[in-house]
Amino acid sequence: MTIRDRIAFQFSLIVAVILAGFSTIIYIRSDSYRQTEFYDRLEQRARTTVRFLTQVKELDRNLLRIIDRNTLVTLYDQKVFVYDAGNRLLYTSIDDDSLVVPSSLLTRIRQQGVVRTQVGEQEVYGLYAPEGPQPLTVVASAYDQFGKDELRDLRRTIGWSLLGGIGLTIGLSILFAGQSLQPISRINRQVSTINARNLQQRLDEGNRRDEVAQLAMNFNRVLGRLQQAFEQQRTFISHASHELRTPLAALKSELQLSVRHPLSPQQYQHILHNLTTDTDRIINLTNSLLVLARTLETSTQRPRDPVLLDDVVFAVRDELLSAWPHYRVDVRFSTLSPSDDHPQVPGDELLLRRMLLNLIDNACKYSPDHRADVCIAQDETSCRLSVSDRGIGIAPDQLAHIFDPFYRADNARSRDGFGLGLSICRRIAELHRGYIEVVSQPDQGSVFTVVLPCGAES
Ligand code: ADP
Repeated sequence: MTIRDRIAFQFSLIVAVILAGFSTIIYIRSDSYRQTEFYDRLEQRARTTVRFLTQVKELDRNLLRIIDRNTLVTLYDQKVFVYDAGNRLLYTSIDDDSLVVPSSLLTRIRQQGVVRTQVGEQEVYGLYAPEGPQPLTVVASAYDQFGKDELRDLRRTIGWSLLGGIGLTIGLSILFAGQSLQPISRINRQVSTINARNLQQRLDEGNRRDEVAQLAMNFNRVLGRLQQAFEQQRTFISHASHELRTPLAALKSELQLSVRHPLSPQQYQHILHNLTTDTDRIINLTNSLLVLARTLETSTQRPRDPVLLDDVVFAVRDELLSAWPHYRVDVRFSTLSPSDDHPQVPGDELLLRRMLLNLIDNACKYSPDHRADVCIAQDETSCRLSVSDRGIGIAPDQLAHIFDPFYRADNARSRDGFGLGLSICRRIAELHRGYIEVVSQPDQGSVFTVVLPCGAES
């Protein structure tokens, strides 16, 4: 069932129930009003008869009967019976004397004074009149022909109006529900035409106020983010292939050169050295790409083992110094809480090592003195690792891009690198619910600060 049909059905059902409820109330009230009014008329008839019988001494019953039948408003199938205290029939308005009122009803009338009841189709009014020379029990009954005809008419009118009303409600609710849902159908049609090749397409945002317009606006925002992610991915792939192609092309031309021409042992030596350098470059690049892919994959698995930051810093320093003995890395503690000399964070030790390695290596690589200062600080909630140098620095307009994959500032191009290290660092910090800040001045130096939440609960 479509939403339009469901809304129309539910709305029609509610309206039908309300209409049926009102109709029933109107019908019951009309019936009760008719009955009350009819009993009033029977009462008048009963009291008039009693008055005649008690006040007119020499009353001829036949005359009373004639009066009864010829009063202005004669009721349909009207009968009046008058009994004395011994249940003897004193008077009846009909000719047929065999018709009698059950004695149980007479007893009830005497006990209650007045009885209004229904016998078959007839309304019966019983009155006990003890005030005359002898106590009388009067029973007046009749069939409310006019009232019941009116009631039947009312029933018919209500029934048809109900059917008409419900039919009209169904029709109108289908129409209006269809109209209200038209913007959703329009969005649906537009969404079905969007695919990976036309992500720049946007939905019509209508009046930008109602719920459907909000939905379209939110969807457009999601499309914007998707488009951005797709473009980033495209740029990433083209950068990665370009970076891989350059050393591979160099490898190929060197191999071709050595195959085509006989070379001296020194020339072979030189070519082999170049081949090793290019192969190292390819290995480094693929390693960096693998690490980046790994950090992206583990986005949902939060690392949790406690890692001692100073151990990581010293391990990274040793690793760097053994590869680059001319580097200088100074480590300093600036712990705010003296009780805790060993700041630790819940995390993945290998990833944290990788992050620090990139930051300290960059600091040494981009400084003429190849020197990095590492400062470890801690407060109640977080650990801060700052890596500073007095190197080439970063121009303010390029600072915003240095965390983008493959981005390299103009002044860094002469040094080795792929522009992947900082994007890996930022990803690792985010995986540990932390972040990286950078402050830099061209030719003055840079300070990269990693802030990580510390403690088991962080
Ligand atoms: P790579 O160092 O391989 O180029 P990174 O992602 O580590 O890649 O760094 C991206 C860019 O940020 C570098 O190319 C460089 O321009 C700049 N950068 C990073 N660290 C420093 C630093 N300590 N001093 C100056 N520039 C830096």
